[in-house]
Amino acid sequence: MNNNSDQSNESDDFVSGRAEPPSESIVCVDCGGRAHLLAHPPEDGIWQVGEIVAYRCSDCRDRWDIELAPEGE
Ligand SMILES: [Zn+2]
Repeated sequence: MNNNSDQSNESDDFVSGRAEPPSESIVCVDCGGRAHLLAHPPEDGIWQVGEIVAYRCSDCRDRWDIELAPEGE
């Protein structure tokens, strides 16, 4: 008898769910200036984990991409 157990080894690297909402602005690591959030909040107000939001520093014009972390971290 051939017992082929189907093992679905799906990697669980991708976490889905609510993310901590990004702050409107962050401190630029390069110059200490203020970097403002470029992304618009989703219509339902729910940010997704793993979403990339961009910030633009108003002083040095550098762009920062931040990946959203799960709530409570
Ligand atoms: Zn800067």
